[in-house]
Amino acid sequence: MMASVSYETVGRVAVVTVDNPPVNALSRVIRSGLSDAFGRFQTDESADIAVIIGAGRMLIGGADISEFGKPPQSPSLPDVILQIEQSAKPVVAAIHGMALGGGLEVALGAHYRIAAPGTRLGLPEVKLGIMPGAGGTQRMPRLVGADTALKMITSGTPVTEAEALQSGLIDQICEGVDIREAAIDYAQSLLSDNAPARPISGLPRATDSEGVIQQWRAKLQKSLRGEVAPLVAVDAVEASVQKSFAEGLKEERRLFLHLMDTPQRAGLIHAFFSERAVAKLPEISDIAPRDIARVGVIGGGTMGAGIATSAVLNGLAVTLVERDSEATDKARATIAGNLDAAVKRGKLKAEQRDAILTDALKTVTDYGALSGADLIIEAVFESMDVKKEVFAKLDEILPRGAILATNTSYLDVNEIATTTARPEDVIGLHFFSPAQVMKLLEVVVADKTAPDVVATAFALAKTLGKTAVRAGVCDGFIGNRILSHYRTAADHMVLDGASPYQIDKALTDFGFAMGPYQVSDLAGLDIGYATRQRKAADAHPRDRYPTFADALYHKGWLGQKTGHGYYLYEKGDRKGRPDPEVEQIIAQARKEAGTSPRTFSDDEIVRRYMAAMVNEGARVVDEGIAQRPLDVDVVFLYGYGFPRWRGGPMKYADMRGLDSILADIRTFAETDDHFWSPAPLLEKLVAEGRNFDSLNQR
Ligand code: NAD
Repeated sequence: MMASVSYETVGRVAVVTVDNPPVNALSRVIRSGLSDAFGRFQTDESADIAVIIGAGRMLIGGADISEFGKPPQSPSLPDVILQIEQSAKPVVAAIHGMALGGGLEVALGAHYRIAAPGTRLGLPEVKLGIMPGAGGTQRMPRLVGADTALKMITSGTPVTEAEALQSGLIDQICEGVDIREAAIDYAQSLLSDNAPARPISGLPRATDSEGVIQQWRAKLQKSLRGEVAPLVAVDAVEASVQKSFAEGLKEERRLFLHLMDTPQRAGLIHAFFSERAVAKLPEISDIAPRDIARVGVIGGGTMGAGIATSAVLNGLAVTLVERDSEATDKARATIAGNLDAAVKRGKLKAEQRDAILTDALKTVTDYGALSGADLIIEAVFESMDVKKEVFAKLDEILPRGAILATNTSYLDVNEIATTTARPEDVIGLHFFSPAQVMKLLEVVVADKTAPDVVATAFALAKTLGKTAVRAGVCDGFIGNRILSHYRTAADHMVLDGASPYQIDKALTDFGFAMGPYQVSDLAGLDIGYATRQRKAADAHPRDRYPTFADALYHKGWLGQKTGHGYYLYEKGDRKGRPDPEVEQIIAQARKEAGTSPRTFSDDEIVRRYMAAMVNEGARVVDEGIAQRPLDVDVVFLYGYGFPRWRGGPMKYADMRGLDSILADIRTFAETDDHFWSPAPLLEKLVAEGRNFDSLNQR
């Protein structure tokens, strides 16, 4: 369908309709169509007021992202909006569905705004590393005040029509369902009231009497971990309270163009497109998923209770099986607590919680209660023997066609599948903790998994509001396999003289949500210990062992849950403080290993950590465990607290230059060629002058 802007008159109302499916993006054709329509309106003696409206599902979803990074084509959006605003006859924006980014800026160019129920209005530009660049940072504060404007612009989170009405962002909510009719009625009533053109640029500047701008700046500096766009947007809003409208617009343009040029924008756009690309799998493109209504969860510990919460919150019925009634009670209490938290946050009504607990959730000790389930998710202890026993039992109880999934973190899904007579129905569904919160779902496809089981896993992720990434079978799949590798690099640095506290600090300064030792304390040191035990048999004589980690484990210092791990936690405190005793234990471990400690710069820490991550990432792609580098990126963005504005580890490597990463690995190999050997794919790409992104297109 061709993009177009149409013009017609209804009585004395000119109706200007933007039509560019699916989201009426502001492409060049739409911008010039709007400019033509408003040129015509000015000279059209049969029309006294104009309504601008979107065809289809919404007013306007935003700019045309495909034009980003290309030479600008006129007319520019700021000019088109100025032209609308400068109309001598009044203009009404009729908003339904969504008005986002440039779409909301167009509505701010109008003189009156009416919105339909169910509308979302927002300026989400910062999520792509930019900021509003068509007057949004200047008009919004004049209309709703600096504080509300800053909240919307720096968070990027849209508001509802009710919130918009309250803040003054819109003038009316239409009663009926038909926004077009309602907007024309509204325009006609404005005409009979002789309502004038009312440009926002003509309103007085917002004041900053309470110093809100500085408050927002200080707050964001603390929370952003290196992301720049929201802070630059604060500068633009500051200009709106200090400068004339025309000067403020100029400043906005300057700051906008500066952000367009930053690597952060490139990282965030990569994240945005990658998140969409992970769901596009050729192997399931035309395969119908199986129906999932009833879910069984085996095990109600940390993960089982979280998975059950996620399922019931999204409308699925869950039967959870535990070993005894004490454990079922505990699981039910955990889930009820999670639902209470959802009620507190306004995500769930109290009566919905009650209905879930009485009708949708069953907690039992009898596996027989699972017989009607469409999908089982096993989340028992991480032991092959226990898992095999469970799967053999499930195979007896469940009819063919029911999907049997394991939430294992590391174990071989092919081996688990062999205990059933239907390996085609077996798959790995690797959730992350806390499962009702974390967005990532690794879908682990085993050798015999049927394509419609894979399709069902992706459909389930959608139902649960999660992002699914396809992974192949290996120890730890995509995420935990790469984690094991860079975690080892961090342990080596500790053995060689870096403190865990310096390492964590260097990596949070880089932008990670947490450093590796903070992660250990959160997850529990018993998890790492169990993994080392499991892998002990495969150890190589040249592997360097983190004896300090075992020492902490044997002292019972298991992390936050015991109040002591790498950090010491006062009661109720989750941040923790460094512990000199831990440093002594580490010093002892170095002595026993015969290493003489040296100092590390923060830069070297980041380089070693990232080189290990990227190198193993390249192997994971090369072996087909991850389909493309972007799949690795999405796993790290959604499951491992990787800074989104860096795009993911593979995008980071591309932006830094693969030759630079490879050179680091070769340098590190000079003193340890057992751990540091360049991944063949990395060497190949460097030799061919290519980057990881060249593999994302296939
Ligand atoms: P957990 O110890 O908290 O819970 C395991 C639960 O399984 C216990 O409540 C136990 O009573 C129950 N259980 C054991 N055997 C059972 C059986 N035969 N029938 C019914 N119930 C049984 O462990 P967890 O942290 O929830 O981990 C569960 C699985 O999820 C493991 O495979 C783990 O590797 C994986 N996983 C854990 C995390 C995490 O961060 N904790 C993240 C992703 C995946």
